[in-house]
Amino acid sequence: MSLRIVVTVKYVPDATGDRHFADDLTVDRDDVDGLLSELDEYAVEQALQISENSDDDVEITVLTVGPEDAKDALRKALSMGADKAIHVEDDDLHGTDVIGTSLVLAKAIEKAGYDLVVSGMASTDGTAGVVPALLAERLGVPQVTLLSEVSVEDGVVRGRRDGDTASEQLEASLPAVVSVTDQSGEARYPSFKGIMAAKKKPVESWDLEDLEIEADEVGLEGAWTKVEAAAERPARTAGTIVKDEGEGGKQLAEFLAGQKFI
Ligand SMILES: Cc1cc2nc3c(=O)[nH]c(=O)nc-3n(C[C@H](O)[C@H](O)[C@H](O)COP(=O)(O)OP(=O)(O)OC[C@H]3O[C@@H](n4cnc5c(N)ncnc54)[C@H](O)[C@@H]3O)c2cc1C
Repeated sequence: MSLRIVVTVKYVPDATGDRHFADDLTVDRDDVDGLLSELDEYAVEQALQISENSDDDVEITVLTVGPEDAKDALRKALSMGADKAIHVEDDDLHGTDVIGTSLVLAKAIEKAGYDLVVSGMASTDGTAGVVPALLAERLGVPQVTLLSEVSVEDGVVRGRRDGDTASEQLEASLPAVVSVTDQSGEARYPSFKGIMAAKKKPVESWDLEDLEIEADEVGLEGAWTKVEAAAERPARTAGTIVKDEGEGGKQLAEFLAGQKFI
């Protein structure tokens, strides 16, 4: 049996960098270093573990929708061990919202062919945490989200979702969409061998025409949400420093009472 896994990975601005909004109130991605969203490294890792624990012939494709530099995110995932990559890039994608992103991803996944889609729990910039559910809806397949443990056997994906008060054991027949959390296990670091091998692995580039998507279905024009205004958050103040000269506890209690915390 073969198993085709598609892992969705997002290229995000480096959180340590200077992130700011562009004039059109989208996040300025020019001249800002970017990287593979950390939460998607867990998705790549779980896909690799499914492959390593399977007797099937497993193929892992990593897929991203993003600007030219998003290739760096694909390269990182390929160096971790994914087999091939797909990059959907088009100027008309600028400013695409979650609805548009899910449309592009769904069309690309259908075109690529799949049995299982593995996503991260959320991206580290938009943080909506909804794309996996939107994908499942568009693909018309089950979704099993926020898993801390996942496995595939005999055409069924199984997993554990840990809530605050209970853990659930969930399963769904393939094809399906799953998302994994940052509690699903450490993501491996690419080995030197992996980094070198990644340079030779195929990266296909598709645009909106390849996916038969009209420009007005995506981008700022097709967005269902609109950023009306954006303002820098005031710089954090140093805060109140209490020097304990015997009355520290009392001063702290007064401060907390003053803040109505107690
Ligand atoms: C600061 C900020 C605020 C935003 N606010 C909104 C908003 O309120 N409403 C709105 O509709 N859009 C918003 N967007 C746009 C939204 O981030 C993009 O549409 C994005 O592509 C999808 O949303 P997300 O990153 O939040 O996805 P999530 O739903 O957080 O992503 C979950 C998973 O989906 C996959 N995924 C997400 N995006 C991609 C991609 N481009 N390529 C491949 N896989 C992907 C990844 O595996 C990821 O782990 C915002 C963007 C930013 C940077």
